[in-house]
Formats: sequence, C-alpha cells, structure tokens
Amino acid sequence: MDPRDLSHHSPYVPGRGVEEVARELGIDRSELIKLSSNENPHGPSPAAVEAIHEHAERVNVYPKSSHTDLTARIAEKWDVGAEQVWVSPGADGSIDYLSRAALEPDDRVLVPDPGFAYYAMSARYHHAAVETYPLSIEDGFTQTAEDVLSAYGGERVVYLTSPHNPSGSVISHEAIRTVADATAESTLVVVDEAYGEFAEVESAIPLADERDDVAVLRTFSKAYGLAGLRIGYSVVPEGWGEAYARVNTPFAASELACRAALAALDDEAHVRESVDTARWARSYIADELDAETFDSDGNFVLARVGDGAAVAEAAQERGVIIRDCGSFGLPECVRISTGTREETREAVDRLNTVLAALEPGAEA
Ligand SMILES: *Cc1c(COP(=O)(O)O)cnc(C)c1O
Repeated sequence: MDPRDLSHHSPYVPGRGVEEVARELGIDRSELIKLSSNENPHGPSPAAVEAIHEHAERVNVYPKSSHTDLTARIAEKWDVGAEQVWVSPGADGSIDYLSRAALEPDDRVLVPDPGFAYYAMSARYHHAAVETYPLSIEDGFTQTAEDVLSAYGGERVVYLTSPHNPSGSVISHEAIRTVADATAESTLVVVDEAYGEFAEVESAIPLADERDDVAVLRTFSKAYGLAGLRIGYSVVPEGWGEAYARVNTPFAASELACRAALAALDDEAHVRESVDTARWARSYIADELDAETFDSDGNFVLARVGDGAAVAEAAQERGVIIRDCGSFGLPECVRISTGTREETREAVDRLNTVLAALEPGAEA
C-alpha cells in the first residue's frame, strides 16, 4: 500500500551540510566556511551548553517543569500572558500549531513569493491551499501593505516575514497594522520574526498582545545558536491561548532544548556578540562583494550574481558553502549567511575570485 497522494507537496530543500560537502570534495571540514543556513557562527551560548550537560542525566523524564519555566520566562521577557506563549520544536513547530489551530480543509493561506518554504508545506499538510503575493526584486523586495492586500482574497492566514528570508527586507508596524485592519475578521496575520534579533526594527509582539488577529513567530535557531536543538515559539492573541493544549504535540519541545533555551535567554552577552557580528558582516558583504546586494536586516545577504547555481557550485569548490536561491525562485541570486569577521572576510575574498572568473568574457 502507498502513502496518500503527496504529489502537491514539495520536499524541503535545506542548505548543504559541512560533512556532506567535505566528504564530496575530499577535504577536512575545518577547511570549509559554511554560510548556507543562516546559523550562528559563534556557536551556541556556553551557558546553554552547560545547561545541556547539567540536565543530560534527567532525560529519562518527560519535559514538564522546563517547558513551564521556559514559557513563563518568555512571557516575562515580552510582557504577555503565559498562555499566549506557544513553545514548539523550532518556529517551524509553531507554524504547524497555528495551522492546526486555524485551518479547516480547503481554507487558503497567503504567503510571500519568494519566501520561506515551510508556510506552504505546513498549510498543505493541513489540507489548505496556498496563494502567494509577489515581492519584487526590481524594488529591492520592499514589503508594503499594498503588495499584500492587492493579492489578498479572504485567506484564513496571511504570512509576513520580517526580516524576510531570503531578501532581508523588513515590514513596518504600520504596514502590519494596515494589513491586519484591512483583512477579514477571520484572517490571522502571522509575522515571522525568526531573524528579529538582528533587525533594527522593533518586534511586532506588542501587536499580538493588543489585537486578536496577529501572531508572531520567534526562534532560538538563529541569534541564540540552538538550531540543532529545535526550539522556538509563537506569541498568539489572548483569545487563542486556550487552543494550545488542543493542538500541540505533547512534549515536542525536548527537556534539553527547553533547558538550553532558558540558559540562552539569560546569556545576553552571547546574543549581543552574535547580533553585532551579523550587523558588521552584512554591511561588510554589501560593501565588499563584487555583486549587487539587497539591504538586509538579517544574518544573511542576498546577492544578484547572474547564475546563482554556477556561483554556488564554484564557491563550494573554493570551500565556501552558500545558498543557491533557485529553490526560492531566484535563480540569479545566492544567499550568503554572515560568518565570524574572519570567515566573512575570507569568504568575500574567495567569492570575488569566483565572480571574476565567471564574469562574461573572463578566461575559462
Ligand atoms: C529559520 C527560519 C524559521 C524557523 O526555523 P526553526 O529552526 O524551525 O526555528 C522560520 N522562518 C524563517 C523565515 C526562517 O528562516
């Protein structure tokens, strides 16, 4: 027998892993600079690593108080009610929880194109259909309420990404409010702030608190450096709080993930260093890379290089792993995550060599 018809579901295409590439090139992994998955180049917070060691011997028990403590800590951080904080395995887990809580079969969701693949994937798992609103490379992927509203047709969920992946553009509070005001009462506006810590703009979480139609996604995968642990959350309107117990996968946020997140939240120095480095590196890349780049508020920079796949391939041969944006529908672009200062300088240097060699008219 077979699974159900999954032909409308597209597989998620992750950035390539270091081991995978090192093995293929027959080199040591330490020779590679991996800038393909927007991970934290400083690693996890040392306090988080310590918390993992400290709690390792208690993983025979289901995570209960750690989950409660983390929820309370996040609620305190944002000054919202604990029931408004939905802790999940990554922000991706929160996307699923919101899909479960919001979507009936044949509902529709509205997502940005280009955009983060998982919004559509999750919607389809939950038997909903997917519509898109365009963000245009020609206006530098600026995000306006008009762009979203001109495509809006009563969808149940509208996704906004700020900072946007892969472009790095942000959307203002005013625009979020305009979208939420203009859409139907039954429409939930989800603001994905996976890269919120790196941005110069304020979080939209206060909007989720004051309104009944805005939810915000956050994660420990990026600025906090805990991508491998899978821990994130959403902040939902007050009236949605009660739904969590009905939709969450029991104990899906693991004991070690919750403990590490708690420790990471208190390690302000680690987040500050991570954010400082990303801000420095994104302007370094914009200034020094010999290609058109787009203003980014994230820990990555999108660059228009001509043939993104060819550039990513040639970069990899020089030990720099970057993201070819074909899977985002931007075949002429690559996305470069910010590394440490040393990695970023070295990567830009190697990328400029690649770009010069691939330029039309360059010697083959
Ligand atoms: C990385 C990312 C996420 C979620 O990542 P998790 O690891 O599941 O927390 C969500 N949205 C965007 C736009 C991302 O780039």
